[in-house]
Amino acid sequence: MKLIAAVLAAMAFTGALVATQKEVPKDPVIVAYQDLIAKDLRLATIGYLLAKGSADFCRNKWRNLGWVLHDERQYPDLGLARRAFTFRQPISIAALVADGPAEQAGLAAGDGLFGADGSVVWYDLRPAKSGPSSERIDGLREEFVTRLSEGRPIAFQIDTANGRRDVALDPPTICASDFWVDVRPKRDAGADGVRVRVTSGLMEYVSDDDELAAVVAHEMAHNLLDHRPLIEVTKSGKTKVIKATEAEADRLSVWLMANAGYDPEAAITFWERYGKATGLGIFSAPTHYRWQSRVAMLRAEMDQMALLPTVEGRRDPPLLAAHRAKQ
Ligand SMILES: [Zn+2]
Repeated sequence: MKLIAAVLAAMAFTGALVATQKEVPKDPVIVAYQDLIAKDLRLATIGYLLAKGSADFCRNKWRNLGWVLHDERQYPDLGLARRAFTFRQPISIAALVADGPAEQAGLAAGDGLFGADGSVVWYDLRPAKSGPSSERIDGLREEFVTRLSEGRPIAFQIDTANGRRDVALDPPTICASDFWVDVRPKRDAGADGVRVRVTSGLMEYVSDDDELAAVVAHEMAHNLLDHRPLIEVTKSGKTKVIKATEAEADRLSVWLMANAGYDPEAAITFWERYGKATGLGIFSAPTHYRWQSRVAMLRAEMDQMALLPTVEGRRDPPLLAAHRAKQ
């Protein structure tokens, strides 16, 4: 009996193999386009969850629709882009953060942005005359930045599988930060005061979402604590200030992770592995403190965090409390 079962299992396996081999291989360009959107969504989701998890404690707040938009014009090969994705309008929803405001409003990937406030079309709907460009979608993002800062419902029209409809999204305010994937093999990340940038190379290097959350939380912490203006106004002792802001970003990162349901231990495993491989942290600047002291500080911060009780599973990070008190 056992032998027959084994033979049957082997036959089933062979059958599966043959079926796989019969599949038409996807165009590598389509695979690359879809992989980029998958990365965008992964980063957007982690960023959204981190921002939402500590929403009650941030002074720097923002609204986030929980979607990834894309423009068919940003792809070098328009024909392949249209095979890779559904575009109901030239600028469409590429992906949605699970349970985010846009998904909760019933929007779906492929739905196309048409116009705003009933009549105004936000962007030029005509097809591109020249090569790929991100100009149009960058303009639309700016438009959304303005609308998201206004604190009132954002009304627009969208083309769905069931026709055109009016939508009004009114997302709650959560911790500030916007996220984008920088397509480069270099393992790098950064924060400019508003946005968080993570390279595709670093996204492929991290072993799981918890480790990626460690990187994103560190960069987000720089934005939430207004580190950039602090560094910009510093004339002397810049190295010292940068080192202090790096330490603060590390310390806050584990609180943000825990509040979002990520395992803060991943910050230790990531920086240890990354530190051993590179000898330095994310920034290769000489100001960067060595990874051993970085890991020791993260450990001390987590020990302190464990002593505090949670309220509905969350803790108020001392660095955010101090930042709120500054006003
Ligand atoms: Zn940093």
